Amino acid sequence: MNTVRCEAIVLRTYKLAEADLICVLLTRDHGKVRAVAHGVRRTSSKLGSRMEVLDHVDVLLAKGRTELLSVRQVESRGAFDHVRDNYERLAAGLVIVETADAATIEHHADEAFFEMVRRALATLGEAPTPSVVATAFLFKTLAHEGASPVLEHCASCGEDTDLVAFDLAEGGLLCSSCRRGRPVSPEAVALMRRILLGGLAGVLREEGPPGSAEVASIAIDAVESNLGRRLRAARVLGAH
Ligand SMILES: [Zn+2]
Repeated sequence: MNTVRCEAIVLRTYKLAEADLICVLLTRDHGKVRAVAHGVRRTSSKLGSRMEVLDHVDVLLAKGRTELLSVRQVESRGAFDHVRDNYERLAAGLVIVETADAATIEHHADEAFFEMVRRALATLGEAPTPSVVATAFLFKTLAHEGASPVLEHCASCGEDTDLVAFDLAEGGLLCSSCRRGRPVSPEAVALMRRILLGGLAGVLREEGPPGSAEVASIAIDAVESNLGRRLRAARVLGAH
């Protein structure tokens, strides 16, 4: 039986039997894995730390007789404790981990994506508007999937002014002659551009940038359509 030590973020957990927990972990080096933490729900658990959604941990995983890995040791990195302090941060954090779960398949290592998730969760502690961090993460996930929307000009005819609509099936923003899909305000156009085309750091420092509810709604629709599934936690980003 071999064991592996890895840095992980807990994306999701579900109870198993009396005191066990199945944890869906996004690891830095091995992609998404599923592991059972035996006895972790007992107060006398010997694992070393709890395992909860949004925990950032170092784990020792062992391969068992079945597909399922088992957690031998857990050590908290404590890095995302700030996320649970506040309802808005928690809500945004849950959107990030649910999206990360939906966007990954098991045992497919992707360190760049791990870093995206880790950084987004770390940023939640500093950004004045947590929902904007989650919205930006949704767009970054789309870009990572190779499905970045066209924002520079009309996705249909190339016109670069008078962009008034957004339709993911058409590829992104559309001008008034090509318009279809949902209408977008100039503020939303500007904000999406800043998020995806340079300027994200500035966006993350702002309190409630104009157009953010609209852009959140566009991001949710776009990611749900790209991943082919609904994101439950995303409803809290408003507008949806
Ligand atoms: Zn056009």
